[in-house]
Amino acid sequence: MSSEWEEAIERSTRNNVPEVWRMLEEHPYLESTRVELRKAKLRVLDNLDEFIGKTMEAVTKSGGVAHLARDAAEARDIVDRIIGGREHIILSKSNVAYEAGIRQHLRDRGKDVWETDFGEYLLQIAEEEPSHIITVALHMTKEKFGRELHRNLDESINEDSTPAEMAAAVRRFLLGKYDTAEVGITGANAVAADTGSVALVENEGNIRMTSVRPQIHIAVTGIDKIVPTLGDAFKEVMIQAAYAGSYPPTYINVTTGPSSTGDIESQIIRPATGPREFHLVLIDNGRMKAAADRELREALLCIRCGRCYFACPTYRVMGKEWGKPPYSGPTGVMWNAIVRGDSSAAHMCTHSAGCREVCPMDINIPRVLEYIKYTDFKKMEEGGKK
Ligand code: SF4
Repeated sequence: MSSEWEEAIERSTRNNVPEVWRMLEEHPYLESTRVELRKAKLRVLDNLDEFIGKTMEAVTKSGGVAHLARDAAEARDIVDRIIGGREHIILSKSNVAYEAGIRQHLRDRGKDVWETDFGEYLLQIAEEEPSHIITVALHMTKEKFGRELHRNLDESINEDSTPAEMAAAVRRFLLGKYDTAEVGITGANAVAADTGSVALVENEGNIRMTSVRPQIHIAVTGIDKIVPTLGDAFKEVMIQAAYAGSYPPTYINVTTGPSSTGDIESQIIRPATGPREFHLVLIDNGRMKAAADRELREALLCIRCGRCYFACPTYRVMGKEWGKPPYSGPTGVMWNAIVRGDSSAAHMCTHSAGCREVCPMDINIPRVLEYIKYTDFKKMEEGGKK
């Protein structure tokens, strides 16, 4: 464990833990909202096929195009077909796009691709992997940020620069990228089955810009992000923001199909000023199988708030080495087993159960990890009998 990592995790924990407690005390209705959200998400898992069908139908009805990818390779093919010969692409942070290897794939094809989330942008220029599901550059101290920006973006920035000076340098660069981007790729915090709407929560404004400035918006996400209604989608973004430590969020974005206007004789005309195309790419990649498993399905309730990371002694020691980015930490270890079939990190869990105590979705993470271990041992035993 490097001393830089120790310092970084210590600073982030010190910021996150009191902030979440303060917000929960100030907004007590969040407690009942998170309980309702868990119930709504379980309803979807009980009827996943039906909800996928409803969501795709609703997207089509709103003038968008819905795609269902069985795995990461199929998702990359779909994105390729949508982008075609277009060259300039911007991305807002998406764990599922990372899982599907979309940024790297597009860069390998010679496209001009830029992450617009500050942390992701830093990782891109530093050629490093995310260390936390929300605060992706959590392993980097302010000083490290300064050194990377000095080397890759702006020589006037260094490790003594203030966070505001660093943010201003990144902002100048990204504003130029928004002007030229032809395609914007986002993830989704939630997808409403009744309306086909995608809900996204953020503070930086980059998701709003990525989903509105380019003429084509592609939202790439997992089928686990489907919730029954738009009301449930709002619950998910509220709870995600609160337990991530930023409530109220600066922006909640909702996209339902391409841009439209009803100003001419109340007829809905598409497009208006914003994107003329909206695509939703839903990815299975092991989720369907997990939903059918009574134990593993709990992991699909995760809303990626990242709170369990701060309560986990194994993660605090190992950082992103525990799991495989973007899925490290307690939730990431469950997710590696689901989307990559890689259960090795589960065996390093010490079962402190701090993660279970803090999870807003009441996921019994230690139990899921114990079940993953049990499944491994059973396979080994069966293999030995042959
Ligand atoms: S497992 Fe729970 S605490 Fe951890 S990221 Fe998911 S919802 Fe948040």
